[in-house]
Amino acid sequence: MNSHPFIPLRLAMLAVVLPLVLAAGLPEEARLSAASEILQRTPLSAPDLRVLSEYVRNGDSSPVLRSRAMAAYAMALLLQGNTNSFIRAQQIHQATYPDDIQLIPLTSRHYCVSCDGCRGTGRREKAVCPQCYGRGALFQLSPFVAETYEKRLREIVALCRENAEYAEKLQDAAKESRVEMQIEILQALTNSYSHRTDLVPAISLLNDALAKRESRLRDEQAKEARQRAEREVEMLKALARGTDRLRAIQELKAYLTVHPHASSALELQALLDELLAKEKQRQLLRQIGIGTGVLMGLLCLTPLVRFFCFVAAFRSRGRCRAWRTWISPASRILSA
Ligand SMILES: [Zn+2]
Repeated sequence: MNSHPFIPLRLAMLAVVLPLVLAAGLPEEARLSAASEILQRTPLSAPDLRVLSEYVRNGDSSPVLRSRAMAAYAMALLLQGNTNSFIRAQQIHQATYPDDIQLIPLTSRHYCVSCDGCRGTGRREKAVCPQCYGRGALFQLSPFVAETYEKRLREIVALCRENAEYAEKLQDAAKESRVEMQIEILQALTNSYSHRTDLVPAISLLNDALAKRESRLRDEQAKEARQRAEREVEMLKALARGTDRLRAIQELKAYLTVHPHASSALELQALLDELLAKEKQRQLLRQIGIGTGVLMGLLCLTPLVRFFCFVAAFRSRGRCRAWRTWISPASRILSA
């Protein structure tokens, strides 16, 4: 995730500017590629060798291409028989690109042979050898020189083509507005061109697109969770309005225990309090009802008890005693 507010802006600029910068070098590379193709057919074409030379002199050129153009140009000098210039060019190449020495894998044995006339001594019959002018060696190119020269030219053409294709694909990826599609294109691009050393813009674009997707997914998840919570709250409210008060109380308590800080917690708590008050009132009324019922029952039972007592007394002690126990108090009340 981008921790700095300017990072998305920087990446957006990178997405726009860097493909343009890459593409800016393409006309020059196209010229170099065309010249290299001609030189494969006409190895010493002067105008095309000039293109090579101009490309080498441009310090802003791609190092990979410049090193190869420099090597090809040096070998063109050798093909023209200019050994001293070749040796100087080879030395400059080695000093400028020490890791690319293998691009000019040539030694004197590839362009010099020992002089037959003096057997390499430079002198014949106590005088300077007329065949090699005292050098002891004769200029003779090995076919390997032309082969290596052509190989470098082919590499230049292939690299220019790849650069053009890569720049075009990167531009397409930068223009792509659909994040999923952009990620797909950039992943394919960085995988297919993993050997390139200038993948930073593509990787930055890819990271930016991945961050965008992650942020969008987070927003979607948050929205979904919010909607789920809203549905849950609505369900609880409907339950509270329903007839099953005990279940509503139970569900509300469970929800508030799990989500004590939810935005709807206060509202639901008020609803729960209301339901609890109603439930308490119901229980109180029930208890009063039971108490009243018991009292009424007792009041109804009293005459029956007295009646049964009377019957029992009547049976055990006779009518007169019963009369005193049961009737006399009644007659006294009536007379009073
Ligand atoms: Zn000689």
